Amino acid sequence: MGTVDRSEKSGKFEWIEGGIRERSGEAMVALRRDIHREPELGFGTEKTARKVVDALEGLPLEIQTGLAENGVVATLRGSGDGPTVGLRADMDALPIHEETGLPFASETDGRMHACGHDGHTSMLVGAAHALCSDELRSRLKGDVKFIFQPAEEGYAGGRIMVEEGVTRGLDKVFALHLWPGLTFGSFSTKGGAIMAAADGFEMEVRGQGGHGAMPHLTADAVMMASYVATALQTIVSREVDPSEAAVLTIGEIGAGSAFNIIPETARLAGTVRTVDPALRERMPDRIQEISRGVASGMRGDAELDYRFAYPVTRNDESAADFALKVAGELFGEESAIEARHPSMAGEDFAFMLEEVPGAYVWLGVGDVSGLHTPAFAFDEEILPRGAAMLTALALKSLESAG
Ligand SMILES: [Zn+2]
Ligand SMILES: [Zn+2]
Repeated sequence: MGTVDRSEKSGKFEWIEGGIRERSGEAMVALRRDIHREPELGFGTEKTARKVVDALEGLPLEIQTGLAENGVVATLRGSGDGPTVGLRADMDALPIHEETGLPFASETDGRMHACGHDGHTSMLVGAAHALCSDELRSRLKGDVKFIFQPAEEGYAGGRIMVEEGVTRGLDKVFALHLWPGLTFGSFSTKGGAIMAAADGFEMEVRGQGGHGAMPHLTADAVMMASYVATALQTIVSREVDPSEAAVLTIGEIGAGSAFNIIPETARLAGTVRTVDPALRERMPDRIQEISRGVASGMRGDAELDYRFAYPVTRNDESAADFALKVAGELFGEESAIEARHPSMAGEDFAFMLEEVPGAYVWLGVGDVSGLHTPAFAFDEEILPRGAAMLTALALKSLESAG
């Protein structure tokens, strides 16, 4: 990867994507495939972090490793004392068995980059190469921090990075996420909530076990769990303002060891997604009250273990507007789409946005298999585009700063 050609047309920024494609395109694809082949989970992104550090070698960056175990933060010093902009990518994969049939598919059974984090990492490395080029670096009035974090998928690596100081000194922060279903190459975001709060629970329903032929001598935990699962659906349908978004999904339900035994206990587990903070706070009490009420009516009990996990990913209004404006200038107005609703998926970039104003932006990869599915794959032509957007977000933030 090398420098970026500067053939600016009428004050616009079309040249950035072309320059990155020409100079770094192949290296970005190679890095993405290398990461894709060796997916790592949670905080264990040791090899991925090493690949990132290797790919940044020779650039004028101050590199810090070991944040949140295997995070990497690379700082580029600009020429002035302007603000500092953070750009963040996530590096972890998912416990899913890949079924894409790609020649560079996962070499580890049961692990796959099914959320595009291999692409995010490669795009951020591409942006680092572009911003480190002499012609762009000289235009930066402040610093850029390239943040590579582990453990986005359920382990709150972003929160640990924040606790370890990654957002200290940052004035703005941006992240991209590849987004199936959105037009290929277009960018979409909005001010305010862009991703929901994502919380979870487990529940044990307890009755009295016994012979399958003698239900009158038992308190049937399977029946209790079934009614609890049904009754919990009335929280969203009957207690939440219909214009307010909320999801309660029970993804696991289990009980019993044999067809003719009524088990003593049953287990349920689920996820709760909300956008409104007051509703988020209210959910555990309502889940516990309804479950306990239903179970006790059937001579049993229900014990809830609730975990608040990721808060709402909330974009700063002006940072979201800025991101759409940059996307429009860079790729044409049709490529900058204001999102209408937040996604009900969660995202631990939320923790960084709680500390620093910024925006989380979706990058369309068109009509492909969804995120977190075994067939998820994207056209690598998207990589230079994402890198160009990250580059321009930093460049435009730090040029106007002077
Ligand atoms: Zn994911
Ligand atoms: Zn993701």
